[in-house]
Amino acid sequence: MMDITDNIYGLWTVLEEVERDKNNNRMWLVVCECGDSHVRRQSNLVNGHTQGCFRCINASRRTYERGKPFSVTVMNCLGRCTKKNNPRYKDYGGRGISICPEWIDAPGEFRLYLVELWYETVGTHSLKRYGQHDLTLDRIDNESHYEPGNLRFTTMAEQVYNSRRYK
Ligand SMILES: [Zn+2]
Repeated sequence: MMDITDNIYGLWTVLEEVERDKNNNRMWLVVCECGDSHVRRQSNLVNGHTQGCFRCINASRRTYERGKPFSVTVMNCLGRCTKKNNPRYKDYGGRGISICPEWIDAPGEFRLYLVELWYETVGTHSLKRYGQHDLTLDRIDNESHYEPGNLRFTTMAEQVYNSRRYK
């Protein structure tokens, strides 16, 4: 008999086996990352059909959705700072402009940082209007990197002023 005690499935950690359900399915007591415990069917755990409590799964979907509109921005940054064959590499990576290493390893973290920065700037988590705003991502110190503390959303006009100031 398969023992899945202590196994981790998504956000679940398996605690112990409990009584079978009326269809004789093996059932396990599992605890979600948030601390909530539930009983789940073994087959659903093993085949990945359940990965955490509904609240946590919904929250992580929302967070993911929130970061998605910044995918292109993040990909462009990674391209011009880290890919030598990128047409704009010479003005970025080639000049020593880099990206916070954690963000290179996990671009999702970069996107979520931008979501929070967006919230600070515009006052809403809604990205529906992203792209309609004339705000673009800008480095505060032009000689420095894409990293926490050196980024902001500015209008194009401010950005031109900023880049002249640092020349
Ligand atoms: Zn949870």
